[in-house]
Amino acid sequence: MILPGDSPQAIEQCARHLRGGGLVGLPTETVYGLAANAHDDAAVARIFAAKGRPADHPLIIHVAGVQALGHFAHGVPAYCTALLQAFWPGPLTVVLRRNTGMAMAASGGHGTIALRCPAHPVAQALLAKLADAAAGGACWGSQVWGLAAPSANRFGKVSPTTAQHVAEEFGEAFPVLDGGPCAVGIESTIVDCTHDRPVLLRPGVLTGQALHEACGVALAAPTQAQQPVRAPGTLASHYAPRARVRLLEEQALRDALHTLPPTAAQRVAVWSRWEDAPTAIRQCTMPDVAAEAARQLFAVLRNYDAEGVEEIWVQTVPDSPEWEGVRDRLQRAAATWTHTD
Ligand code: AMP
Ligand code: MG
Repeated sequence: MILPGDSPQAIEQCARHLRGGGLVGLPTETVYGLAANAHDDAAVARIFAAKGRPADHPLIIHVAGVQALGHFAHGVPAYCTALLQAFWPGPLTVVLRRNTGMAMAASGGHGTIALRCPAHPVAQALLAKLADAAAGGACWGSQVWGLAAPSANRFGKVSPTTAQHVAEEFGEAFPVLDGGPCAVGIESTIVDCTHDRPVLLRPGVLTGQALHEACGVALAAPTQAQQPVRAPGTLASHYAPRARVRLLEEQALRDALHTLPPTAAQRVAVWSRWEDAPTAIRQCTMPDVAAEAARQLFAVLRNYDAEGVEEIWVQTVPDSPEWEGVRDRLQRAAATWTHTD
C-alpha cells in the first residue's frame, strides 16, 4: 500500500507500525529504504527475510541527526565530525565503533556500526514522529531512534528510486511512504571512520575531493583488511537488473549497433550520451551531467527490465571524479555476467 509521504496521518500510521515491529518503505534522497526499528532484533530479522539478504551483511542505521551518534557509537575522530558537519543531513554514511548492545542484529554482529542522517523531509518527519515521546514514548528504554534501512529491493537487485518501484517488488507486504522520485538516485557514499584516515568503502555522489576538502584529510582506498563488510560472494551480484548489462566505449557501441542484425534489435536497449541508434532499437539518452545520470540510472535499468529486453548496452561514463558513483554501479551491474556467483 502506497501512502502519501506528506500526510501527517500516514507518518503517524507508519510510526505506529514501526513501533510494533513492522517494516515500512521509506523515501530518502539516495534510494528508497526498507526500514525497521534498529533496536528491535526481531523487526530487523524481518528486513533480512523480506530482502533475502544474508544476516551477516550489515545494514545502515538512519538517525535524526548528530545528537544520536553517542548513543550508537564511540571513538568519533575529528575528521568524522568535520564530515558530518559538512554533509549531514545528506548522502553520507559513516562507519564507527559500535557501542555494546546497540543495534546488534542490524549491524550483522560486527563491532562497527554504519550511521546516516537522511535529508529527505519524509524520512526526517518519520524519525521526528518516532522520537516524539507524546506519540508513543521511549524506544526500548531510549529516546534515541534509529531506523535500519537497506535499499527496498530483493538482495542483489537494482535499488528502487520511486515508491512504485518498491510496491512492484514487494506488493502489499508493508506500507510504502511516497516521497517522490529520489533526488540523488544512487546509494550513499560510505566512509569508514574507524582508522586514523577516512577510508572510502563505497563511492556515491560526494566526490573524494569534496570529502577531503571538508575534513582536511585525504581519503584512503580500502586495503584488503578494510574491504567493506559483505557476505562472501555478493559483491558482483549487486545492482543487477535481470537483463545483461554491457558497458561499451562510444565507438565500440556505435559499431556494435550498426552490425546488429535487425532480428536482434528487439532484444537490445541502449543508454548513451548520443541518440542516433538505428530506429528499431530502444534508446534513451544518458545526461551529460553526472548527478543527473545518477538520478536516472536505476529507473532506466528497471524500465528496460520491465520492457523485457535481454541486453542493456550502456556507454561508458567519463573518467572524472564526479562520475565515480555511477561508474561503480554500472560496473557492478555489468560484472554479474562475468562472475559465477
Ligand atoms: P546497503 O547495502 O546500502 O544497505 O549498505 C550496506 C553497506 O554498508 C555494507 O555493505 C557495508 O559496506 C556498510 N556497512 C553497513 N553496516 C556496517 C557496519 N556495521 N560495519 C561496517 N560497514 C557497514
Ligand atoms: Mg542495496
